[in-house]
Amino acid sequence: MNSISAIFKSAVHALPFISMIFAGGCGAHASSGCESDSAAVGETTVAAAATFSADSAYQFLKTQVEFGARVPNTPAHKATAQWLETKLRQYCDTVIVTPFKPLTFDNVRLDARNLFAQINPGISDRTLLLAHWDSRPWADKDPDPAMRDTPVDGANDGASGVAVILEIARLLRVNRDNVGVDILFVDAEDWGSEGDDDSWALGAQHFAQHPPLDGYAPREAILLDMVGGKNPVFTREYFSQQSNPRLNQRIWRKAAELGYADIFVDRVETAVTDDHVRLIEAGIPAVDIIEYHPGQGFNPTWHTTGDNLQNIDINTLDIVGNVVYQVITDRQSNGNK
Ligand SMILES: [Zn+2]
Repeated sequence: MNSISAIFKSAVHALPFISMIFAGGCGAHASSGCESDSAAVGETTVAAAATFSADSAYQFLKTQVEFGARVPNTPAHKATAQWLETKLRQYCDTVIVTPFKPLTFDNVRLDARNLFAQINPGISDRTLLLAHWDSRPWADKDPDPAMRDTPVDGANDGASGVAVILEIARLLRVNRDNVGVDILFVDAEDWGSEGDDDSWALGAQHFAQHPPLDGYAPREAILLDMVGGKNPVFTREYFSQQSNPRLNQRIWRKAAELGYADIFVDRVETAVTDDHVRLIEAGIPAVDIIEYHPGQGFNPTWHTTGDNLQNIDINTLDIVGNVVYQVITDRQSNGNK
């Protein structure tokens, strides 16, 4: 860790339905993922690009939460993995599921799996989007001591990032965006012990040590973690800033352009041990978009039983989703910056 006080996301570590906008990419022979995303107006074919749907993202979030807490070695976890794989196969060109069996800090052998997918795999210049899909086994930060052994719903811590990425994948498919995007849903991020860095992000550790493709080297990676809370503030994270300041600059500049400068507050605030650190160590320049309030920390629901659907704000999903989608697709039209 650096001199900056490390926050263990373990510290956190720390995304309705489909608006019927014209989707130029989904024609009469569209794949199964497209049928609800297109419409026809009379005899006119309108080819306007579809936009990020916060309603769709919210549904993706809600579905995850409704499986139950996504704690490894539980039926809810297994069912969620199957659903995630189905969605990735619907929106992406290739999907690689990687089972692994990490040992936790408290000596539990987990039946874990990472899910990796590619959109437009023929494009060599690639952006990796990732989020963890598991949820924490214990609400150890709950204000009520009696609740601290309760598994966390992880509506924000886990499901939000996955939901925004799934919606971006759906949109990339609908719009036929000509960008190289990979998706990684990492498991076993949140079964960690405070003060023990190595106990967190077991899925990202496994991915870094066993990449799913030989020589895998995306240009950049964006981790989304806790991107669906109420009254959010996103500040730049320290390790991200060290690793890829230009990507951070693109993200925060885009957010300001879209009118979100009060939410994407452009300052480096703290260092967070999260999945992105493992990618950075493996040579992948990565940034973490994570809610962190100056002088306060994570969303108050973090690692509490309050991290549930009632404390999700669909507007937060919308803001983060639009920022990330536009950052990705800008590269298509403007080249790399
Ligand atoms: Zn967490």
